[in-house]
Amino acid sequence: MGTLLVRHAEVLVTMDAGRREIRDGGLFIRDGAITAVGPTGELPTEADQVLDLRGHLVLPGLINTHHHLYQTLTRAVPAAQDADLFTWLKTLYPIWARLTGEAVYVSALVGLAELLLSGCTTASDHLYLFPNDVTLDDEIRAARELGIRFHASRGGMSLGESRGGLPPDRVVQDEETILADCRRVIEAYHEAGPYAMTRIVIAPCSPFSVTPQLMRASAEMARTYGVRLHTHLAETKDEEQFCLERFGRRPAAYAADLGWTGDDVWWAHSVHVNAAEIELMARSATGVAHCPTSNMRLASGIAPVRAMRAAGVRIGLGVDGSASNDSSNLLAEARQALLLQRVTGDPGALTARQALELATLGGASVLGREDIGALMPGRAADFAAFRLNRLEYAGALHDPVAAIVFCAPQRADLVVVNGRIVVSEGQITGVDLGPVIERHNRLSQQMIDQAM
Ligand SMILES: [Zn+2]
Repeated sequence: MGTLLVRHAEVLVTMDAGRREIRDGGLFIRDGAITAVGPTGELPTEADQVLDLRGHLVLPGLINTHHHLYQTLTRAVPAAQDADLFTWLKTLYPIWARLTGEAVYVSALVGLAELLLSGCTTASDHLYLFPNDVTLDDEIRAARELGIRFHASRGGMSLGESRGGLPPDRVVQDEETILADCRRVIEAYHEAGPYAMTRIVIAPCSPFSVTPQLMRASAEMARTYGVRLHTHLAETKDEEQFCLERFGRRPAAYAADLGWTGDDVWWAHSVHVNAAEIELMARSATGVAHCPTSNMRLASGIAPVRAMRAAGVRIGLGVDGSASNDSSNLLAEARQALLLQRVTGDPGALTARQALELATLGGASVLGREDIGALMPGRAADFAAFRLNRLEYAGALHDPVAAIVFCAPQRADLVVVNGRIVVSEGQITGVDLGPVIERHNRLSQQMIDQAM
């Protein structure tokens, strides 16, 4: 791959131990990894490729820890616009039952392109519906074409309506099928080493769609292979009620009983966790994907991020699926996180820099990666650059780092993953998006028409 020199960035945000923000900063990159970080004057002056980022803010690539890319096909569906989680799910399951491998591939291109353009360089996705010819391979193919670093979660649902679960029986699979496919995709795709571009995660969907047996068997399999575990937990009061009625315990205790705590586990949401449960998460090093927009959209509640941070819980940000966001913009999510923590009366609950920390270092920690999330020697060359001389930042350039969170979220002008340019001049380089959007809209319309 050779060498790449980045120089003259207006401000380069490192997220290193001293949280240095370097004026006239730069990076020296060899074979996709950073070898030097500092003021431009202290870096080598020559490289195979040189990027002059005068007038730009450079951030470590943002990291998304929770998403359902296929949901870009069902944004703003009228009957699900003003619904809580369970009503929203029951409205959308029949549409999602029409999902195909082609639809998963095309929606992954759309959602991942949106993430890249928001400065995101590592995305985690949670696919838990496998009707028709859908496979996890479809979204991995999309990620590779775009050049984004990707953690693909093989989800699953095994508890249908007839056995007391929420989803209709026709969208669930039996447990042997789910586990066999988890094994298949781990063996086919999982890269364990540093700078891995594809990793596999095992991710049964939620307490109300999966049996305790599958949760236990998934945890065992993940630990045999050394892959991570992910699930929805403590998202809504309805889910809490379901767990109390069916399992006689609150969601966190239910998860803990099944082996679903630990430094290889992260939960999505964790809105309804009390002080003892936050303590359990911190003690066990269980991570969380905080999804503020989705939590507001579905009226799920406010996750106690401030208390979790104070307790030392590992927290990343997630845009969540695009049927409950309804976008895949991680920079916007950082802004939402900051605003939502303040809404109950504490203007200092989360600062702009803390929100960026959740979106970078926090996400890396939740995904179990020490090779991304900061611009430091030894880390992967994953970064995003935003031009500062634009209307939306006018009047905020005394603090460009805060501006990027406080001001309306803007498109990244340049995004580099593993030393490779994947967004240039605000455009995706790997895929021609025009035809993709057309195809996506056609597939979306077909799925919704067929389900009506
Ligand atoms: Zn979700």
